[in-house]
Amino acid sequence: MNKFRLLIGGALVDGDLTLAVVNPATEEVLAHAPRASLNQLNAAVAAAKSAFPQWAATPIAERRQAMLALADAIDMHADELGRLLTQEQGRPLDHTMGEVRGTAQRFRYWAEQTLDVEVLEDSDDMRVEAHRKPLGVVAAIVPWNFPLGMMSWKVAPSLLVGNTLVVKPAPTTPLTTLRLGELARDLLPPGVLNIITDDNDLGATLAEHPDVAKVSFTGSIATGRKVMASGAVTLKHLTLELGGNDAAIVLDDVNPAKIAAQLFGGAFYNSGQVCTAIKRLYVHASVYDQICDELAKLADQAVVGDGLDQGTEFGPINNRRQFEKVKELLADARINGTVMPSSNGAAAERGYFIRPTIVRDIQEGSRLVDEEQFGPVLPVLKFSEDEDALARANNTLFGLGGSIWSSNAERAYALADRLEAGMVWINRHGGAWDHIPFLGSKQSGIGSELGGARALEEYTQLKIVNIKR
Ligand code: NAD
Repeated sequence: MNKFRLLIGGALVDGDLTLAVVNPATEEVLAHAPRASLNQLNAAVAAAKSAFPQWAATPIAERRQAMLALADAIDMHADELGRLLTQEQGRPLDHTMGEVRGTAQRFRYWAEQTLDVEVLEDSDDMRVEAHRKPLGVVAAIVPWNFPLGMMSWKVAPSLLVGNTLVVKPAPTTPLTTLRLGELARDLLPPGVLNIITDDNDLGATLAEHPDVAKVSFTGSIATGRKVMASGAVTLKHLTLELGGNDAAIVLDDVNPAKIAAQLFGGAFYNSGQVCTAIKRLYVHASVYDQICDELAKLADQAVVGDGLDQGTEFGPINNRRQFEKVKELLADARINGTVMPSSNGAAAERGYFIRPTIVRDIQEGSRLVDEEQFGPVLPVLKFSEDEDALARANNTLFGLGGSIWSSNAERAYALADRLEAGMVWINRHGGAWDHIPFLGSKQSGIGSELGGARALEEYTQLKIVNIKR
């Protein structure tokens, strides 16, 4: 295994401290990563601050070239990055390869975007223009479910508009991001992109650092609240992409056999460790048994294992803390619902594995329904009236995504319109596209990511220039 180093001010440096990164499929230490000290965090912010004026003044064509070069470098190292991502995150190799290739593609997509001046008025009296100016130093704080993907949502638009960055991956998945830092070192001017790691101890300092202009944070609601409090000290710009407890509502007019595999994929991709996974499945009484049986069959057939093994469909939970939490919720579900039987009984001896599990006859008031499980255990709730399903789905502080499943487009659309979520889907659940905003409502987030020009607004300051005629 390579040696990993932080990227600070264009130099690859050892951490003042170290961090053991565990492969969740084997529970063995995969690598000793560098872990930044407070001094190194300050050095990274200082480097980003001093690189900012020059980078902001660099012609956009040059910034685009650097982003395209980074995309090419990622593609050239895709096999190595994909394998490393599977080892640190857990997902099967074909999925992590998709994340790596998608990351390269994202840098290309953002390199093509433009920052145009908008003319708001051009009259005999005045000419008024709306400009978009870079903000300065952006702190990008990233979770462990899609380390490269979530990082690139923040880094790619920031680089295009002329911001500089300090990126902090999650402590359990820092390795691919550190490797990307090595690739970026010779492609970006020193200080434009800095990468530091921690053991969940530097996020707050980074989020309140006076020289950080914006915090773009993806993670849990609990941590999001802390980021907002930290940012309040210097009134930072914030983008918060937080947790979800997405409901999918399955109406009585569906074909259960036809949609079961899609529901299953929506709930269990990445072993449920997706912010927009289906986390509460509401099913009409007339198709309830059939849907539960179809899902249980798929759960039974699922191939769970080390993501590096050929044929694995579902990897482990990423880390022990989350593994214990999902096991707790499962234990609670055994009391409050019926865990559907599986013929795949024996648990793996090593690794944070939990098989896809369907829990039926469960209600609100149980932890598995009310909390974000962020793991492969799906509660299936029964309803008889559409209005009742909608009210129950909406009765939560979460508001990330949600979906309606029906063969009647009008009926589905009318319910989707009243589902309280930043994103609603009809006859599908989840997905992220560069040109479409990704966001949560209620306590699932503030601001949005992706979405072409909208993301550029998130990473810039609006400036009005008014010329008297
Ligand atoms: P987390 O909130 O525990 O950690 C996220 C990041 O915040 C990590 O890098 C962590 O080190 C850092 N951090 C910890 N304490 C901090 C503090 N006080 N200030 C600033 N940063 C701090 O989340 P996680 O467990 O890594 O990720 C899972 C969560 O992320 C789930 O809730 C999931 O739904 C959410 N998520 C949301 C989206 C979205 O786009 N809405 C996408 C992916 C994941």
